[in-house]
Amino acid sequence: MTTIAQRIESIQASLPQSVKLVAVSKFHPVEALQDAYAAGQRIFGESRVQELQVKQELLPKDVEWHFIGHLQTNKVKYIVPYISMIQSVDSIHILQEINKQAQRVGRVIDCLLEVHVAQEETKYGFSVSECVALLSPSLLSEYPFVRIRGIMGMATYTDDQEQIALEFSCLKNLFDTLCKGSMEGITYFDTLSMGMSHDYQLAIKYGSTMVRIGTTIFGERVY
Ligand SMILES: *Cc1c(COP(=O)(O)O)cnc(C)c1O
Repeated sequence: MTTIAQRIESIQASLPQSVKLVAVSKFHPVEALQDAYAAGQRIFGESRVQELQVKQELLPKDVEWHFIGHLQTNKVKYIVPYISMIQSVDSIHILQEINKQAQRVGRVIDCLLEVHVAQEETKYGFSVSECVALLSPSLLSEYPFVRIRGIMGMATYTDDQEQIALEFSCLKNLFDTLCKGSMEGITYFDTLSMGMSHDYQLAIKYGSTMVRIGTTIFGERVY
């Protein structure tokens, strides 16, 4: 049996310098996060507001919390005071609410647009074409309290490596198109968040700058 600290160290050692590790700690107890923190991990990903609230109180203040789940409008206000990044912006409506609540607390919140490329049915996320149509300098100026840092996506949960590769390359193409197009010259637009426990090595080959790893670090989740 390896420990959480050993698993974090071995993942960190395998990542290129330019790739950030988000330790996805949803459904795991505070003690597991404390072990990861002690091993030097500072970025944690959570997907439920109530759970995040509790953990945020108990962990040191230099933790960067990333929200990665579907966010309900009425809960945005609870996390804006401390959240480092909201990776799962899946509608204009939620972007509006983040902007409003961020202004209230006097913060600018880093966000990623969630893009849907997998074959699985989901209600959440923008399509590639919606994302291209949406991201423009006028959109950015409309929401001055959010800073759109890039995009986040998930590949289909499958063993078919070609399928996964296709979806990661689709996300990478979108990211490059935006970087060379409407986001050209915007230096903070630098984040392509893709890759989870079972596919992060492939994601890195396709240009991921941020991987979100849960199970490989903390073990299976008990729901
Ligand atoms: C749960 C989750 C992860 C982590 O998944 P693992 O397979 O446990 O690594 C990554 N990203 C998102 C958006 C998630 O919801």
